[in-house]
Amino acid sequence: MKFITASATLVLSALLFSTGCHTVPQTGRSALHLVPNDQLTSMSAAQFGQLKQETPISRDLTYNAMLRRVGDRIAYVADPDMPNAQWEFVVFEDDSQINAFAMPGGKVAVYTGIFKVAKTEDDLAIVVGHEVAHVAAGHGNERVSHQLLAAGGALALDIGTSDMDSGDRQLLMAAYGAGATVGVILPYSRFHESEADEIGLMYAAKAGYDPRAAICFWDRMAAQSQGAPPEFLSTHPSGATRARKLQELMPKAMEAYRNR
Ligand SMILES: [Zn+2]
Repeated sequence: MKFITASATLVLSALLFSTGCHTVPQTGRSALHLVPNDQLTSMSAAQFGQLKQETPISRDLTYNAMLRRVGDRIAYVADPDMPNAQWEFVVFEDDSQINAFAMPGGKVAVYTGIFKVAKTEDDLAIVVGHEVAHVAAGHGNERVSHQLLAAGGALALDIGTSDMDSGDRQLLMAAYGAGATVGVILPYSRFHESEADEIGLMYAAKAGYDPRAAICFWDRMAAQSQGAPPEFLSTHPSGATRARKLQELMPKAMEAYRNR
């Protein structure tokens, strides 16, 4: 066990040595960023470009106009937090996907399915605010960094157990894999979802969209994902937890909405 610890420490310190600690601009929280941001940005720009070639892009004029207006306004209020972003907002054609995603550097996509739940521009602003918040808060880099750390731990464990019987070793590695996923990756994802809700709500309000739309919107989203795994294993906060947190944030968001 001593050897495992020593190896793990070595791998961790090698990673940490070249690191940066990044401060999330809106919340002041300190986050681990191991990958240079410009590298991550160019990687995701390339990946997004490929995705656009492989996935049909919606030609629906209403959806595209809605996303362009909302995207412009949200990107404008997020600009002080991320002045170097190259924002791009795309509607992908897939009615079965009630979803949206963002990539580091400023790539945001929604699927046509989201418009079944996002009926108004206020609703869409909640989605776009949430996605832009993931980008501005640097969640992509933090996630990759934690995956790197988890991989470093697995590597150290692999070296440390090399003289074990192979059956035991596989069991230990499998147990570690499950522990690393549930223990490191998921809580961060859930934390990131809450943080993106909070920052995104403020972006929507500052951009002139009614933040009260968030409560009903996430409620309808939760109803769509009935039968989803319980909160413990899911990357998204449960409907009730989310609603409670949004209610807490609402006075501050309403103030920003009225005073903009
Ligand atoms: Zn999210």
